[in-house]
Amino acid sequence: MTDVLIAGSGPTGLTLACDLARRGIPVRVVEQREAPHRESRGKGLRPGSLQVFEELGVAERVRAAGRAGLVLRKYFDGEHVTDTPADDGLLIGQWQIEEALRDRLAELGVRVEYGARLAAIRQDEAGVEAELADGSVIRARYLAGCDGGGSTTRKLLGIPFEGHTAQEEAMVLGDVRAPGLSREFWHQWFTAEGGGILLCPMPGTDSFQLQAMPEVDERGATRPPSLEGFQRLFDRYARMPGIELADPTWLSSWRINVRVAARIRQGRVLLAGDAAHVHPIAGGLGMNTGIEDAAALGRALAAVLTGGAGEEVLDAYETERLAVAAAVVADTTQRYERVVEAVRTPGRGTEAGRDRDPYDLPAKPEPEQEP
Ligand SMILES: Cc1cc2nc3c(=O)[nH]c(=O)nc-3n(C[C@H](O)[C@H](O)[C@H](O)COP(=O)(O)OP(=O)(O)OC[C@H]3O[C@@H](n4cnc5c(N)ncnc54)[C@H](O)[C@@H]3O)c2cc1C
Repeated sequence: MTDVLIAGSGPTGLTLACDLARRGIPVRVVEQREAPHRESRGKGLRPGSLQVFEELGVAERVRAAGRAGLVLRKYFDGEHVTDTPADDGLLIGQWQIEEALRDRLAELGVRVEYGARLAAIRQDEAGVEAELADGSVIRARYLAGCDGGGSTTRKLLGIPFEGHTAQEEAMVLGDVRAPGLSREFWHQWFTAEGGGILLCPMPGTDSFQLQAMPEVDERGATRPPSLEGFQRLFDRYARMPGIELADPTWLSSWRINVRVAARIRQGRVLLAGDAAHVHPIAGGLGMNTGIEDAAALGRALAAVLTGGAGEEVLDAYETERLAVAAAVVADTTQRYERVVEAVRTPGRGTEAGRDRDPYDLPAKPEPEQEP
């Protein structure tokens, strides 16, 4: 029997695994994928996450793989309008964050178990029995469901995921090469007609993360992402003849999904990360909130398992993190609306979703006139 079984090896599950393992608490991680992915996905680490990584001994390798100080270059109707300095976060692909955490976890003696899908849960006063899709059973004192927005753990427990999901995709995304395009900027093109495309150079690779409003077909339905579609969107919004997008390694689409789990503790099973809350990507808080959930859950489980604390510590985890989730959902919804509104103005871009939008800072007061 292990102390903690973690379902899911995204940023949340891996952060929790590293935190427990460094405290000497026996932990296992099961992951339904057959192997790690290489998708850029959540690409910004906030200072709070870096502080968590500092404690886990991961911050240095993450800083080495990432890039600070990238400039946002804004264009309107194909013309370069302005440049804005980056915020205080670190640009790095999600797969690289996961790789750094996995490497640290291996140093601590734990390896992710791939091709292992959680399929059923039974629990009693003594522990949890997790059944995998292949029929094998793992016994643990606690189970942490870090298995993403479609969380099997949450569904198996019958916990409602309250909120709403938009009918249509709001964005297509992918990782592509764009030979000839400068890698010094996060390029953001918007137009008076209302569409836009963003290409962000991902460190440690020769690809860009592409984000764009999707194409619609003759019936008004959004088209799925494809390299040909990305090129059509690029030509329409960026208007840079000669740049040919190539070699897509990830194609995806995203729709607005704003939901929070009704509970994140049910007996010996706890939820964290996207399994507990999903919200708009503006401000880049999804992955970062999951990393901070994991740090809080690691502290709570350690207090119960090795510190002699009572189960009320796990209730406190639920109260504390559900309040954070509610605040993040409200905050990111507002940030998203701010960005959608701001990009109608030439020279504006994703900085409108930051904590402190440089365009909204009070202007310097006029010097007082001599009487
Ligand atoms: C297109 C896109 C763009 C994004 N952009 C940003 C951004 O800019 N900034 C930001 O902060 N966030 C961003 N996010 C959000 C960010 O990617 C997520 O918030 C983050 O991945 C959540 O981490 P997680 O570990 O909780 O869940 P996930 O990363 O989803 O990991 C869950 C893991 O659980 C595994 N799993 C699922 N079910 C089972 C099962 N039954 N058994 C075992 N394993 C299972 C999955 O395979 C997966 O590996 C983006 C997300 C998407 C999809």
